[in-house]
Amino acid sequence: MSNAELYLLSAHELAAKLVAKEVTSEELVRIFAERIEHLEKDVHAFLFVDVEGALQTAKQVDADRAAGKKLHPFAGVPIAIKDNMVQRGKPTTCASKILEGWLPPYDATIVLKLQEAGLPILGKTNMDEFAMGSSTEHSAFGPTRNPWDLERIPGGSGGGSAAAVAAFMVPWALGSDTGGSIRQPGAVTGTVGAKPTYGAVSRYGLIAMGSSLDQIGPVTRDVRDAAALQMIIGGHDPLDSTSLDEPVPDITGALAKIGTDATGLRVGVVKQLQGEGYQAGVLQRFQQAVERLQEAGANVVEVDCPSFEYALAAYYLIMPAEVSSNLARFDGVRYGLRVLPQEGEVTTERMMAATREAGFGDEVKRRIILGTHVLSAGYYDAYYGSAQKVRTLLQRDLAAAFEQCDVLLTPTAPTTAFKFGDKLDDPMSMYLNDVATIPANMAGIPGISVPAGVAPEDGLPVGVQILAPARGDVTMYEVAARMEAQLAKSSEPMPPCPAAAWKEGAK
Ligand code: GLN
Repeated sequence: MSNAELYLLSAHELAAKLVAKEVTSEELVRIFAERIEHLEKDVHAFLFVDVEGALQTAKQVDADRAAGKKLHPFAGVPIAIKDNMVQRGKPTTCASKILEGWLPPYDATIVLKLQEAGLPILGKTNMDEFAMGSSTEHSAFGPTRNPWDLERIPGGSGGGSAAAVAAFMVPWALGSDTGGSIRQPGAVTGTVGAKPTYGAVSRYGLIAMGSSLDQIGPVTRDVRDAAALQMIIGGHDPLDSTSLDEPVPDITGALAKIGTDATGLRVGVVKQLQGEGYQAGVLQRFQQAVERLQEAGANVVEVDCPSFEYALAAYYLIMPAEVSSNLARFDGVRYGLRVLPQEGEVTTERMMAATREAGFGDEVKRRIILGTHVLSAGYYDAYYGSAQKVRTLLQRDLAAAFEQCDVLLTPTAPTTAFKFGDKLDDPMSMYLNDVATIPANMAGIPGISVPAGVAPEDGLPVGVQILAPARGDVTMYEVAARMEAQLAKSSEPMPPCPAAAWKEGAK
């Protein structure tokens, strides 16, 4: 393999080459920076590319390695992070005009962890504004395009991270998942996306959307990379009051031990998450994934989660309620944009209104209004209160399901990547994309989307989701790795993303 083709390797393959001194971190940063330069005008995965910053880390790692210092096993492998994670002195916008020009005065805990491990950060990736959406069409700076088909969405809100990884612009990236924003982009771009157990990764420095739902997680091209990345970013953080006070589980160690035999594994298929509303090819690939695990010895049972029918509705009450409170801090006083009223008296209140009017996009405004409405005195019990009850029922349904099985399997998203504009004027149909991913956020359990081949009717990637009980991340990764191995052996394995062959832009 020539150096020019190193971009095709996974993070652990690159790490091995760095350790063997077959390549330097500086060389890797330059290779990926060149890829980004060639493909960015077609894909638009980034809001900020930081070649200088990445080179600085890379050179330090190379010097330390030359000096024989003990390094993290992945030191020198470049990464990108979603633009809702703050990095000191680097533009962080959440894809919103209201944060344009703002430079964070501090680092998110995950940024410090990446830096400690010696991972050069190549930039900040595009997203739906404040992580609200399923397509990146709500980015104030223009959408990201899916490297499988540039006319289609890369999923959202973390479409930038998923597209960057799918197009080999970086070996891996970080996303955030409030209702599916790591997993659904993973599904539609043929990448792996994992949402850890709530609290497993610090949210300190993640610009909040729905604080009781948000979780940072890995976006990679294989399960092993995702496991390694979760171990790099995970762990207790006193700066996040919801952080789990537990040691980071040895996920990669567990993966190194699994065989192909899945005898004894109990897999649950959720009755409510198949059938109506699902594309035929998605269901076909899902079925195939279930059968592969069955062939490996797993026992498959159907589980009933009746409350799942109300999960979407409950999420779209709880999440906006939290959004309306979290986004109140963007007031024209503390961060970024400040707009003064065009005419009339200049008061603080009128300045805030003018700033929010100009700075927030339609989807953000829609959710703030919805959130303040469901929290208002007259409607609190009817909406927010009821939604919280549904959340409890959902947690009970899942607890009951996990008595019958070790993991649950569902299609990650009901369809493959849709075309730009298809759902933009119909928020409800956009929201329906999250039907299978939000139960995990509502219950705090871990979920991962694994590529499961392409849908026969359109040749686009399909993702299968694995859900495990809270703190069951190791089990989730074990099943994901088994399924990935089984699917790779199948007669129709996942074809490579067309972007793998792109050298100087998409043609
Ligand atoms: N698509 C979902 C939404 O719009 C999920 C967002 C997310 O996970 N950040 O709310």
